[in-house]
Amino acid sequence: MFGRPTEPAEEGVTPREAQGYLGSPMIDPFQRKVNYLRVSVTDRCDFRCTYCMAENMTFLPRKELLSLDEMYRLCSVFIEKGVTKIRLTGGEPLVRRNIMDLVRALGKRIGSGLEEVTLTTNGSQLSRFAEELFDCGVRRVNVSLDTLDPVKFQQITRSGVMERVMEGITKAQEAGLKIKLNVVALKNVNDAELPQMIRFAHQRGMDLTIIETMPMGDVSEDRTNQYIPLSDVRRSLEQHFSLREQNHTSGGPARYVTVRETGGRLGFITPLTHNFCESCNRIRLTCTGRLYMCLGQDDAADFREMLRSTADDRIVAIAIDDAIRRKPKGHDFVIDRFQKRPAVARHMSVTGG
Ligand code: SAM
Ligand code: SF4
Repeated sequence: MFGRPTEPAEEGVTPREAQGYLGSPMIDPFQRKVNYLRVSVTDRCDFRCTYCMAENMTFLPRKELLSLDEMYRLCSVFIEKGVTKIRLTGGEPLVRRNIMDLVRALGKRIGSGLEEVTLTTNGSQLSRFAEELFDCGVRRVNVSLDTLDPVKFQQITRSGVMERVMEGITKAQEAGLKIKLNVVALKNVNDAELPQMIRFAHQRGMDLTIIETMPMGDVSEDRTNQYIPLSDVRRSLEQHFSLREQNHTSGGPARYVTVRETGGRLGFITPLTHNFCESCNRIRLTCTGRLYMCLGQDDAADFREMLRSTADDRIVAIAIDDAIRRKPKGHDFVIDRFQKRPAVARHMSVTGG
């Protein structure tokens, strides 16, 4: 398991394939260099957050999922092609069985092309895995936490227990992992609580990023009721704090400010009010092997059958190049009160945010 990718067979390789597509960088039609891969390792989750999933979600049959071996092989080809950062996400990545085998295998690639393996998690299993994650080479983890109120937490997640997430955060910090909290801004749910959450995060040495709700997947609730533009959020935060722009980047779409009163860092991810596509360096792989070149578009390239039908990684690399040529300029998210359908039909848990 998790060996180096299979050596390509020379027989039947066309001249194009022989040109070494494996090592060529991924540059899209808008001259953006793609070096950040997010991998949704499962569509399953132990929570059902109101903005992310419907209450009665139907999950994929297990046979449709890539094995962890197949995921590792595909990740290896991406590393050969210039991916320096891999984020595992989901669904909830830590509920995928044997996920630490993949984390460990990827962790061993750090330093030879790959710079970072990281994770976005709801924190429910973090106390169990924190030490092992650090041992595998993970140094930073994003934890999603939308409130500090246990009752509200249960309502937002429909099933989560906040205390377990808090334990997970503590264990992760003790293990040496740096944590960033992700908070989705939800109108009349957690917007009034944001100053308190910022103080909480910064007092504990964590960055905090606020995310605008994106119209993805049917969640059996009216999103226009949840949506609050981050420009409004920022204006109201400025009544509590002085915010100073920063040049910091974490390689993702967030824009950062320093909060003078706490000395901590605050990020804003604003796909709707401030499109961040012009500097997009990301692609997303689903747990079934579909590669999405944009979170906000439906076009995808399917790698599952290819992985199962050839041992030649150069063929996979060529298919990756073909897919990157289709990376669109940007997404088309709009939250429209009169258009009740989500802008993108798949749920966020398919591509993992
Ligand atoms: N289960 C993990 C978690 O919650 O961190 C990882 C997967 S989750 C889909 C990744 C991130 O996407 C989380 O921070 C979550 O809050 C965010 N998210 C989910 N649905 C969203 C939506 N419709 N709009 C904005 N952010 C969303
Ligand atoms: Fe699960 Fe994360 Fe979606 Fe919440 S946001 S339902 S924790 S995948």
